[in-house]
Amino acid sequence: MACLVDPLGRTFPYLRLSLLEACNFHCSYCLPDGYRAGPRPTRWLTAEEIARLLRGFAAVGMRKLRLTGGEPSLRADLSKIIGIAAGTPGIEKIAMTTNGILLQRRLQDWRAAGLTALNVSVDSLDPVRFKAITGHDRGVEVIAGVEQALGLGFDAVKLNAVLLRGLNDDELPAWLAYLRDRRISIRFIELMRTGDNLEYFRRHHLRSEDLEQSLLDAGWQLLPRLADAGPAREYRHPEYQGRIGIIAPYSRDFCASCNRLRVTAKGDLRLCLFGEFGIPLRQLLQSDEQQAELIASLHAQLGLKQAGHGLHEGQTGMTPHLASVGG
Ligand code: SF4
Repeated sequence: MACLVDPLGRTFPYLRLSLLEACNFHCSYCLPDGYRAGPRPTRWLTAEEIARLLRGFAAVGMRKLRLTGGEPSLRADLSKIIGIAAGTPGIEKIAMTTNGILLQRRLQDWRAAGLTALNVSVDSLDPVRFKAITGHDRGVEVIAGVEQALGLGFDAVKLNAVLLRGLNDDELPAWLAYLRDRRISIRFIELMRTGDNLEYFRRHHLRSEDLEQSLLDAGWQLLPRLADAGPAREYRHPEYQGRIGIIAPYSRDFCASCNRLRVTAKGDLRLCLFGEFGIPLRQLLQSDEQQAELIASLHAQLGLKQAGHGLHEGQTGMTPHLASVGG
């Protein structure tokens, strides 16, 4: 079956699937006032619809799946969904991005269901700052869950830290100490402008060039990038077990190697994180007989994929905050 290819010849082995928009954290750069449910209960994709979606994407070259949200661990059927993904032919990697609040309680179940990689959002190792950024005094607990994950044989355990000027941009020494003897990767992510965070963005956005230069000056080496890898530039150092990744969406060539598509928790295909439109797929996930129609639709929609985002021009598309599409 032909892989999905866009007009620039890029292929898409990586799908980011949002399981819900709800989240129980109040991260200052995303949902500072917390998640607000709409007037009517929202029907997120069901496990059956997700099974059909994953079969369709796997049939057109998807090899890596990332489960996101909101906060994916709020789904009571999360282990079932991980199991469905693990049982879908063609899917080789099943990763999840979580705020870590349920790690200690649910990690074993997710691992047993087939989860192969884990990203945990930890914007600071300092519990006081963690609380200031997320609105929750759970930093110590989350890090304890990360330590647990390091012992469960995951292919990869990574921490996502959004770079925030004046809030956590002086913590490199603490991070270096943390990853010296741990097989873990810290991702420093440039704060992205979204529809709702302009003022915050202006106060706290920090480009990653200086940080990256200081790593190079300190002997960190840039590693080659795998075909289904995320957007990070990954660095290693002979004196450290851990690695550092830099995710710099504001760097000029960021989108040239785009290899991922997104589906929202309501079943809309998003060709780009900062795209102007979503393409409803849910109506094609209602029976197993619709697979050919789903696959034909995916091929057709890829023709609409743009070369890149418009963040440099201040265009944030239809993304009010990252919880709405799973980052
Ligand atoms: S911003 Fe859009 S085009 Fe660029 S890498 Fe992300 S999803 Fe791809």
